[in-house]
Amino acid sequence: MVNLEQLLEKAFGYRSFRPGQKEIIEDVLKGNDVLAMLPTGGGKSLCYQLPGYIFSGRILIISPLVSLMEDQVQQLRKRGEKRVIAINSFLASSLKQAALTDLRPFRFIYASPEILQSPKWIEALQKAGISLFVVDEAHCISQWGHDFRPDFLKLGHIRHQLGNPPCLALTATAPPEVINDILATLQLKQAQLHIHPVDRPNIAMKVECVSSVEEKVERIFHYVKILQGPGMIYVSSRQWAEVLARKLQGEGMEKVAYYHGGMDAEQRMLIQQQFLCDQLQLVCCTSAFGMGVNKENVRYVIHFHLPGQIEAYMQEIGRAGRDGKNSVAILLYTHGDEEMVQSLIETELPAREQIRLFIEHKRFSEPEWSSQVPSAMLGLSDTQWRILQYMFESEQLASQNLDKVEANILQMIEERRRWKQKKLQQMLKWLFHSSCRRQQLLSYFDQRLVQKPSMCCDICGFSLHHYEKRAAQNEDTWTFHSWQKELQRMFFEMGSLHEQTK
Ligand code: ADP
Ligand code: MG
Repeated sequence: MVNLEQLLEKAFGYRSFRPGQKEIIEDVLKGNDVLAMLPTGGGKSLCYQLPGYIFSGRILIISPLVSLMEDQVQQLRKRGEKRVIAINSFLASSLKQAALTDLRPFRFIYASPEILQSPKWIEALQKAGISLFVVDEAHCISQWGHDFRPDFLKLGHIRHQLGNPPCLALTATAPPEVINDILATLQLKQAQLHIHPVDRPNIAMKVECVSSVEEKVERIFHYVKILQGPGMIYVSSRQWAEVLARKLQGEGMEKVAYYHGGMDAEQRMLIQQQFLCDQLQLVCCTSAFGMGVNKENVRYVIHFHLPGQIEAYMQEIGRAGRDGKNSVAILLYTHGDEEMVQSLIETELPAREQIRLFIEHKRFSEPEWSSQVPSAMLGLSDTQWRILQYMFESEQLASQNLDKVEANILQMIEERRRWKQKKLQQMLKWLFHSSCRRQQLLSYFDQRLVQKPSMCCDICGFSLHHYEKRAAQNEDTWTFHSWQKELQRMFFEMGSLHEQTK
């Protein structure tokens, strides 16, 4: 039997395992299916990376985001691991050809669920032999996970095609219903569960109710001025990400940028890199930013808008304090914020009329065209199209009668709407609860708070003072120009211009 501690030191340079890692790895090595829930930053990647040096076959890691994949690949390469590949749309075509022919040279193969829909890749993976089937961020697998990713739902079938290799599902945020759904979707009948406390004791939580959006912006200026960075501000629309970043720049703050899904891939990559190497102190972003941003020293996360559900909130605040140092999460709320979430729910889901058009389209087009028609022609967003297409495919297996399929889809959409509303209500309940926020968060995940940290939450009481910049810190990065100062600067410049013309 391999000495795991020695291997840990040799391959990764770490002295000891973090809580849970060793037990998970031991179970994986026994060939068991495993579902592990460890907090964000808890070291989930190691649970498949270390077995990669023991198993003779390849480790396949299914990852929901290209940026997340690239980040993991980079980290492995930095550590000297060359036998790693990410199969996604960025893969150069020469490499792609070689990989399709032979995947055996690789130890770690990262792939998106979408790419695994291609029979060519499945065949290549079958030939290479997979020792471990890893699903990272496995909550995406659940139809009740916070991101609806239909291709994730097909992973059970893909695993079957690959000869049912043992499976390791990893997540940081899965309440019991999601755990059950992950197990069912991946067909893990006898999985070993390693459920660890999702609490992040070094993140203090504060909710602040303000009277208007203007006041929220004021509070943002205030916090960004006083709090020790780097920081992140979450908003729920692309527009707001840009507006806030510009407002902050207008206040004289440099090193601030925005990030959202509407930017092109290169721009996004650039912002992420700049943030990672501290060239940026603050990013105003939508939920598109964060997953896979393995930045250790984020000191604060502010929510400018209300997240739609507790899991999303947990994921987002979890990006703070990965280095274990004290960090703070602040949620700004103003009366009516829930209406914005409500309207996001409405826009995400297709309306009755759109569903009818979608079915009409299916009824009258040839099968080979029906799944290729640009969604925009039917007035559907990409997400709506994905949802409908997924529901259609699964319903059609059960019935060829399109009227029935339509009725069932309508019912499923309605169920999803109700479920999202329930999630929002749970979020609001947490917001307005009068007892310890940490305790309430944990109970949502069916866990109990064992030890309350001294800086817990605004209800238990803590001082923000601990999170403030210390004198002289970051003076150079955050230059706040009052208008008087700005005038002085202009006069000075004009003065020196005079000097020159004289
Ligand atoms: P997550 O659980 O969020 O996926 P990661 O796997 O990305 O977390 O790990 C977070 C950080 O912790 C990484 O920088 C990783 O290198 C580090 N890490 C993981 N395991 C250990 C360990 N046993 N000792 C020290 N650092 C570790
Ligand atoms: Mg991870």
